[in-house]
Amino acid sequence: MKILVNGQLVERNEASIDVEDRGYQFGDGIYEVIRVYKGILFGLREHAERLFRSAAEIGISLPFSLEDLEWDLQKLVQENAVSDGAVYIQTTRGVAPRKHQYEAGLEPQTTAYTFSVKKPEQEQAYGVSAITDEDLRWLRCDIKSLNLLYNVMAKQKAYEAGAFEGILIRDGIVTEGTSSNVYAVLNGTVRTHPANRMILNGITRKNILDLIVKNGIELDEKPVTEEELRQADEIFISSTTAEIISVVTLDGKSVGSGVPGPVTKQLQAAFQECIQQAARVSF
Ligand SMILES: *Cc1c(COP(=O)(O)O)cnc(C)c1O
Repeated sequence: MKILVNGQLVERNEASIDVEDRGYQFGDGIYEVIRVYKGILFGLREHAERLFRSAAEIGISLPFSLEDLEWDLQKLVQENAVSDGAVYIQTTRGVAPRKHQYEAGLEPQTTAYTFSVKKPEQEQAYGVSAITDEDLRWLRCDIKSLNLLYNVMAKQKAYEAGAFEGILIRDGIVTEGTSSNVYAVLNGTVRTHPANRMILNGITRKNILDLIVKNGIELDEKPVTEEELRQADEIFISSTTAEIISVVTLDGKSVGSGVPGPVTKQLQAAFQECIQQAARVSF
C-alpha cells in the first residue's frame, strides 16, 4: 500500500512523521476525506478547493497547485487500485521546536492515504438513532481543522449510548452532527443551518441542496431550533462516507413515523443517481 508524502508515493511502512510536527503536537493543520466510487474521486474539485480554503484560513500557504494535488490524489488511487473507498488527506503547518507561535518559512507536511469504505446500506435503508448534545466547539467550525477533540468526545458519548451520531445544539439551535450535517423536514420544507462559522460546509450538503432545488422540494437555510427538531417529520444527516442517512430515533424517541420519510428517501435516490452519473461521465 502506497501513501502520498509531500507529493511522493512511498510505501506506508517507510514513511515517518517527526515528533515535532505541529499537526501531531497542536493539531495545527487541516484535512479532507474524499469518497472514491469505481476508482473515481467524487467531488474532487470541491474537496481540493475546500482544503485550500481551510489552509488559507489558518495561514498555511500550500506549496502545490490545486491541479498538482488532484493529479497526485488520482495517482494514489490508481496505484492502490482503489475501487470503492476513500482518500484521507491532511496538511500540517510543518515541523518546528515546540512553541505555540511559529516563524515564517515552515514547510507544510501533506500526507494522504487510501482506505476501503463499506457503504452504510443498512443504515441508509432503515435509519439510525441519534442523541442531542451541547455544541461546545470553538467558533470557527467552517474550517476542516485537525482539532477534533470535542467532536471526538461527543461522538464517543453517542457511541457509548448506542447511537450513530451526536447532534450538536448551541443556544437552542441545531448546528450539525459531530461528523455530519443535519437537516430537518418540517411541513414539507427541508431546513438546515446556513453555512457560516457555526458549521462545516459539507460538500455532500452542497450536493443535497442542489438536489432539493432540482427536485422541486422547498428549502430554507434557516436554523432549526431544538424544539423544532423534536417535532420534525423527518431528520437526516449527510457526509462524504454516510451519504444520506435518516435519523429515525432522537434521544430514544421516534422521529415522525419512526421510519425513513419520503423526502429523505427521494433525496437518497437522487444522490445515488448523482454518484452513478459522476462515475459514468468519467469513463
Ligand atoms: C467533514 C464534516 C462534515 C461533512 O462534510 P462532507 O464534505 O459532506 O464530508 C460535516 N460536519 C463536520 C464537523 C465535518 O468535519
